[in-house]
Amino acid sequence: MTSDIRYHLKKLKDELPEHVRLIAVSKTKPVEQMLEAFDAGQKDFGENYVQEICDKQPLMPAETEWHFIGHLQSNKVKYIVPFVHWIHAVDSEKLLEEIEKQGKKQGRIINCLLQVHIADEVSKFGIAPQELHAFVDRVCNLRLQFVRIRGLMGMASFTDNEEKVRSEFRLLRKLFEESKKEFFANSDTFTELSMGMSGDWKIAVEEGSTMIRIGSSIFGART
Ligand SMILES: *Cc1c(COP(=O)(O)O)cnc(C)c1O
Repeated sequence: MTSDIRYHLKKLKDELPEHVRLIAVSKTKPVEQMLEAFDAGQKDFGENYVQEICDKQPLMPAETEWHFIGHLQSNKVKYIVPFVHWIHAVDSEKLLEEIEKQGKKQGRIINCLLQVHIADEVSKFGIAPQELHAFVDRVCNLRLQFVRIRGLMGMASFTDNEEKVRSEFRLLRKLFEESKKEFFANSDTFTELSMGMSGDWKIAVEEGSTMIRIGSSIFGART
């Protein structure tokens, strides 16, 4: 029932500390439901698929803040850079260089988060924690002008073991603090920690999240 969207949003907002940004993850959901969320005051929307975000963007109000949260291939960067505000899952220099190139073309600075692989699960995506330091070092040397590295993003293991989830978020927080100290001490824009989804956002917020990405708790289960 779409009429539940407003209720779910309000409930989440009421529980969320003010410094934590709520991103409504609308992948696979129709624009009508997104507009309902927008009308209830929700401005940040997260999408995982390039085709879908490009189809939806012209149908949403201009004030919508677009977050691309899925895995992004370099050859598709050009389609989203004209309008996207945030790219959450950056995990290669090749991708960063392409975002830089397209950002320059469009005259737009894109907020990027580096995805770290914190879960104890096999995945092709995300920078390994032990490689993050060297990765950030190389990225800083690229002197990118149209990419703004805003922080880190991660996904905890899909498990109901809360202590495990907590320890993974805690690791990401630690990596964030270390990176900030080592590479971004003079920057006031390396501020974001994107962690927490419908099942684990409370733990994420306790461990220092500044952006939570919530889909099913707002729009209902995806089919
Ligand atoms: C789908 C997705 C979410 C939202 O998941 P829910 O469990 O529905 O809240 C958050 N982050 C990423 C990267 C996703 O792909």
